[in-house]
Amino acid sequence: MEKIGFIGLGIMGKPMCLNLLKAGFSVTAWNRTTAKIDAVVKAGARAADSPQDVAKKSDIIITMVSDSPDVEEVILGDSGVVHGAQSGSVVIDMSTISPAVTRSIAAALAEKNVEMLDAPVSGGDTGAINGTLAIMVGGKRHVYDRCRPVFAALGTSITHVGDHGMGQTVKLCNQILVSVTNMAVCEAVTFASASGVDPRIMIEATKNGAAGSWQLANLGPKMVDRDFAPGFMIDLQQKDLRLALDAVHQVRLATPALGLVHQLFNGNQAHGEGKEGTQALVKSIERLAGR
Ligand code: NAP
Repeated sequence: MEKIGFIGLGIMGKPMCLNLLKAGFSVTAWNRTTAKIDAVVKAGARAADSPQDVAKKSDIIITMVSDSPDVEEVILGDSGVVHGAQSGSVVIDMSTISPAVTRSIAAALAEKNVEMLDAPVSGGDTGAINGTLAIMVGGKRHVYDRCRPVFAALGTSITHVGDHGMGQTVKLCNQILVSVTNMAVCEAVTFASASGVDPRIMIEATKNGAAGSWQLANLGPKMVDRDFAPGFMIDLQQKDLRLALDAVHQVRLATPALGLVHQLFNGNQAHGEGKEGTQALVKSIERLAGR
């Protein structure tokens, strides 16, 4: 079995690392805040001193950190993966970052004969814990085939979508779909209430028809119950929508609904609601409606 390195043991990274151990992989792990390494060491992982040290001891190195500059730092920085990676090894970045930055990192790694896949995920912390993530993979087909057993330990829907950066592009499509649908749910819930219809009944009546969606079935009832605890935080969604808007700009496309939902979330953030779940978008719609 390939030796796995894991960098970034946050909300998503820690359960993913545990699932790799459960599947029988030997794992060497590193996290910037060292205290977070203990939980995976208890489950059988070896601790490393730096991303470079992880790379030295691994065939396949997974990164699961926050944003584009963070991935650049752990891969290309002073003690980054690139300084320890052996020729023929593979770096899989599973964070959600910019497709353009992904392509530049892949090019820098290729100079050292190190392959890269971008493999962002959807499914939240529950998907990470249960090993049921949807994984969208960009990079060379033969590298994807080599890494399939690793993906199989982490997710249930695994799709090779194209070349370097295209996994990230598909993840940004996912975020456009999710956030614009969420906005429609917010408008429908607010309209139902304003018109004297019980929004709970509206959701029941529509969720199994052509208007059905994960957002309607799961976020709709939370809006009605005023439950704004985060499944997925507005601040993180805004990072992804910013990445999507940048990528859309690079191909000179107009995506007005994406722009609108980003602006409405700006309103949530201005009201101190950035740490709430994305269903709190309904508060922005209500404020516009004077409700
Ligand atoms: P998180 O809990 O905030 O964890 C982020 C991890 O990255 C932490 O281990 C953090 O280290 C590390 N990190 C950040 N910047 C770093 C840097 N410059 N150098 C070294 N380490 C750094 O975030 P998360 O929820 O696990 O998300 C990780 C990625 O998955 C993000 O790209 C996110 O968009 C994506 N994602 C998240 C979800 C979700 O529901 N949470 C769903 C799908 C995709 P420290 O412990 O030292 O802070």
